[in-house]
Amino acid sequence: MALHQGSLAILENNVGVSDAVLLDPVSEDAFIENLKLRYQHNQIYTYIGTVVVSVNPYKTTPLYTPSIIEEYRSRNIYELPPHIYAITDEAYRSMRDRHLDQCIIISGESGAGKTEASKVIMQYVAEVSGKGENIDTVKEQLLQSNPVLEAFGNAKTNKNDNSSRFGKYMDIEFDFKGDPIGGVITNYLLEKSRVAVQMAGERNFHIFYQLLQGAKLSTLESLKLTREINDYNILKSSGSGDVATMNDQENFDTVMHGMEVIGFTSDEVTSLFQLIGSILKLGNIEFSHRSNDDGTDGCDLSNTSALDDAAALLGCSSANLSLALTQRSVEVRGEKVKRDLSVNDGMYARDALCKALYSRMFSWLVARINDSIKVTSGSRTEVMGVLDIYGFEVFEQNSFEQFIINYCNEKLQQIFIELTLKEEQEEYIKEGIEWIHIEYFNNSVICDLIEKSNVGILALLDEECLRPGNATDLTFLEKLNQACQNHPHYESKALKKCQNDKTLSHGTFRLKHYAGNVTYKVDGFLDKNNDLLFRHLSQAMYQCKHCLMKGLFPEGNPSEKSLKRPATAGSQFKISVTELMKNLLSKNPNYIRCVKPNNLKAADNFDENLVRFQVRYLGLMENVRVKRAGYAFRQVYFQFLYRYKMLAGPTWPRWGGKPQEGVKILLEVQGVPQDEYAFGKTKLFIRNPKTLFDMEEKRRQ
Ligand code: ATP
Ligand code: MG
Repeated sequence: MALHQGSLAILENNVGVSDAVLLDPVSEDAFIENLKLRYQHNQIYTYIGTVVVSVNPYKTTPLYTPSIIEEYRSRNIYELPPHIYAITDEAYRSMRDRHLDQCIIISGESGAGKTEASKVIMQYVAEVSGKGENIDTVKEQLLQSNPVLEAFGNAKTNKNDNSSRFGKYMDIEFDFKGDPIGGVITNYLLEKSRVAVQMAGERNFHIFYQLLQGAKLSTLESLKLTREINDYNILKSSGSGDVATMNDQENFDTVMHGMEVIGFTSDEVTSLFQLIGSILKLGNIEFSHRSNDDGTDGCDLSNTSALDDAAALLGCSSANLSLALTQRSVEVRGEKVKRDLSVNDGMYARDALCKALYSRMFSWLVARINDSIKVTSGSRTEVMGVLDIYGFEVFEQNSFEQFIINYCNEKLQQIFIELTLKEEQEEYIKEGIEWIHIEYFNNSVICDLIEKSNVGILALLDEECLRPGNATDLTFLEKLNQACQNHPHYESKALKKCQNDKTLSHGTFRLKHYAGNVTYKVDGFLDKNNDLLFRHLSQAMYQCKHCLMKGLFPEGNPSEKSLKRPATAGSQFKISVTELMKNLLSKNPNYIRCVKPNNLKAADNFDENLVRFQVRYLGLMENVRVKRAGYAFRQVYFQFLYRYKMLAGPTWPRWGGKPQEGVKILLEVQGVPQDEYAFGKTKLFIRNPKTLFDMEEKRRQ
């Protein structure tokens, strides 16, 4: 590939095929071999048409320097080796110049590089858009939202030291000149169960460790905290305090700087840290069993200093907090009666409170950032959305969280299918271009199984959550077994068709997702979907003097008479995913498909089997086949003629015939082989992007 002078060595090191559409032969093996070859030469990006496939290098590469940004700026996508910069530039210019709102959808499994890719996009946009005092402030705020959100929403997992435990969609808004003027962040389902427990080898959210390691001693003292991670039950239980790749102390400074740039006041920062402190203290509260005189069971708190500290940080009395954690009020014949909680119920209440405090604080944080970055002028804006959302997850044990995450991935796959495969094929039919139909798996059957009103799994789960009486996780499973027994993508041990299946155990159901089979354990589904906090706990929190509490627990307001049940976690998620899909479909989509080369977080290690699994589930080969059977480029005749007529010599600007005829002569004069292009009803279709690239080169000369 010809590069103009001054290009950098890394860009000249192009090996293999940079667009998989040009592979010969096209096979899964050849595709993976090509990715591997390029990866071995630090060429981590490869195209499928305009889709970028990115293989995580797990090492620092010189791919993101200011001079590389300069290289990609305002260049056509096929002029330089594949890069996220190239599609970002294309998206940015088509937004700015043609007023087409854009979205960039980043997908891939945990650790594949989605979040890093989203930062690369933001960094590029910040570099190539306009400068000026106000614009620079906006850019800085948008960029600084990353370390702040990562501190509160990411954690070390066994798959990724910096794993996003929430989904994120960010609209960056621009004025008509293409300068950023603000943004809106939407967050999806934070994995709040992590606040109370983590798997061995994993950690709680980064901010806990950052605060303890990075804050001044005087700050810690005022929060009644010590530096020692092992002083806190919710941090020490998984036994993994330090992460080799992470410096909590330095990251704390980065987060503090980020919050300052975004505009958090020092009071706001203090109140956030008070909440973090109170969660750490609540986590240390333990319960001991008490037998009441009347023969019932109750519990006492056995660590009163933790209770006192938590109460002080939240701004309530120890007595009230203690009552909230050891008793609940129930209505008996129209009268409120206090009932003691058992030790187990007390622990449940404590953990539920920690989780509620943390996840509501996180939503507050996102809202607070949005408040700073929102567009204040009334002018019309152009939008570029960036979606960095959890990838498909299969663990040894999968629960409600994986079910929700995998549902979201089914929906994203549906969009991908709809836009890149189905629409592509449909356009050929519409334009009357001869076309061999490519088989692909349409996953809408699985989406329906999960989300269909009244009969889908989410609806059945809601039904069971709302059913009075003794609904349990197992009665939910029975309901599913009945409703879905004949569905080709549903399996469960209780069904005849699965009775001999040794891989299925009782208390589980299996879904055949587009990406593979996942067995879900129903344990906890009802509880997690209900997502209810004991009402008396919300009321106790509402009474606290801490300045954020009334906003975080509005349902605890005693004058709030309505006992209307909040929407379940599942139905809330369904609503937000549906909205997200609508939003994405209204924009011009761009895709980055991230691939993880190995499970060891290691550089220079390409595990072909692992990559093969991802290539299959991301549907990359279907994507290559459709692109290859089809035409990489299309444009209406008039536009094409207008752009390239200069190549046909001096007489051309006066072409008076039909545009299509003009295009035909133009291509013949250029010597483009006939099988390289096809004439549709309104558009010219060009098979190989290189044809176009050559014509662009000639235009420049
Ligand atoms: P999750 O779904 O768990 O949030 P993710 O897909 O967002 O995962 P990232 O956090 O982006 O994954 O990447 C994991 C790690 O891989 C990063 O912390 C970084 O060390 C490395 N990495 C990812 N992309 C790159 C890149 N382009 N260059 C260098 N290192 C990278
Ligand atoms: Mg991430």
